[in-house]
Amino acid sequence: MSDPVDVAIIGAGAAGLMAAIWAGRTDSERRIVVLDSAKKPGAKILISGGGRCNVTHDGVDENAYAGSSRPAIRKVLRRFDVAQTVEFFRALGVKLKREETGKLFPTTDKARTVLDSLLGAARGAGVELMHPYRVEAVERQNDGFLIRGDGDELVARKVVLATGGRSIPKSGSDGHGYRMAQSLGHTLTPRLFPALVPLTLPRDHFIRELAGVTIIARLEVRTATDKVIQSYTDSTLCTHFGLSGPSVLDISRYYQAAQADDPGAQLTVCWLPGIDDRQLEGDLRTLGRRTVGGYVAKHLPERLGRALCAAVGVDAGTTGDRLTRGARQRLVMVLTQLRLPITGNRGYDFAEVTAGGVPLSEIHLETMESRVCPGLYVIGEICDVDGRIGGYNFQWAWASGYVAGKSI
Ligand SMILES: Cc1cc2nc3c(=O)[nH]c(=O)nc-3n(C[C@H](O)[C@H](O)[C@H](O)COP(=O)(O)OP(=O)(O)OC[C@H]3O[C@@H](n4cnc5c(N)ncnc54)[C@H](O)[C@@H]3O)c2cc1C
Repeated sequence: MSDPVDVAIIGAGAAGLMAAIWAGRTDSERRIVVLDSAKKPGAKILISGGGRCNVTHDGVDENAYAGSSRPAIRKVLRRFDVAQTVEFFRALGVKLKREETGKLFPTTDKARTVLDSLLGAARGAGVELMHPYRVEAVERQNDGFLIRGDGDELVARKVVLATGGRSIPKSGSDGHGYRMAQSLGHTLTPRLFPALVPLTLPRDHFIRELAGVTIIARLEVRTATDKVIQSYTDSTLCTHFGLSGPSVLDISRYYQAAQADDPGAQLTVCWLPGIDDRQLEGDLRTLGRRTVGGYVAKHLPERLGRALCAAVGVDAGTTGDRLTRGARQRLVMVLTQLRLPITGNRGYDFAEVTAGGVPLSEIHLETMESRVCPGLYVIGEICDVDGRIGGYNFQWAWASGYVAGKSI
């Protein structure tokens, strides 16, 4: 066994590297190691944002997150905000650009730039990166921790758990970190589930025939009593398995959470978010000699329009003056409030993050040190915090990593 290390950080993802950099910068005399099971750490950074790495978002606030309480999330986000993130990367030579959506990407449009800058900064801060080193167990010892894995055993005075969640397990984040957190006394939320994940529809659902159709639509989670509890309007993609695209990814965790509490909860889609129901009713009532198909085609991709008419048994060639009241009502429903009989989701292999994890109530948020196991720090996606798409999840990783690194 080698000499004790001062700080062992488990996981060289966004959060772990950030903690390592700031721990090294804060006190360069200490021995800080980062252990990662992956042959090439940083896989998730490299695949993020379609290979461009959406580093953050200019509108980050706690309302874009779910999981632990929003005031708790805010407390950490405030310590390292978007301006600090931009400045941090600028100082590493990575300029960020803001896109129309508010998302920030490196000007190179290459995630590799972000990863290389973090690895360089960690080296520059005197951090040792050990990989592949899969940590199997962390055990509490008198005044530190014993770390066991597929490399030499290590004794560390302080340990940072930055093992991520379960999404894309082949990247190295396979959920083992949750078991280690539990073995050190933490609890986990009652449910862990894939978030920012595409949703599936029954094999014979007409949407699956429309693979490739993309449209701005509004997705809504409704309670069994039809109250809308969450809604996102954004690009929505019909696929061979069901639905994907930003609106679907964003709403996926809310739909799953609502279903778990109330099996009567529903997901509905409004294909015409720019037209309110009354206007639509009126438009259809006053079509006269024009056809339903012609009207729908003005607002929707043709394939989708035809399929929606067919789904409610209305011939697209029907003229307004022949449209019955019942048919008109069915059309309004299918266009504005189509119930989606979701059968499930694409699972962790396709999810961008994991919902659930170590509750923030078990962590001192000024430092990210565990309340149940002093000397242990818990950061990044392993915490019960998940954000919308758009750079929010990395911002959580940067902020929680920074707080731990500075205070450890
Ligand atoms: C396809 C995809 C695209 C994404 N795009 C974006 C985006 O553009 N913007 C954004 O904000 N978020 C994005 N995300 C989410 C973002 O990548 C994560 O929220 C973020 O990487 C979490 O950081 P982390 O450091 O907590 O965990 P991770 O990045 O998962 O890192 C955890 C590290 O711990 C290591 N590890 C795990 N267990 C062990 C063990 N037992 N022993 C040793 N090492 C271990 C893993 O190998 C891994 O390197 C995306 C996610 C995916 C999957």
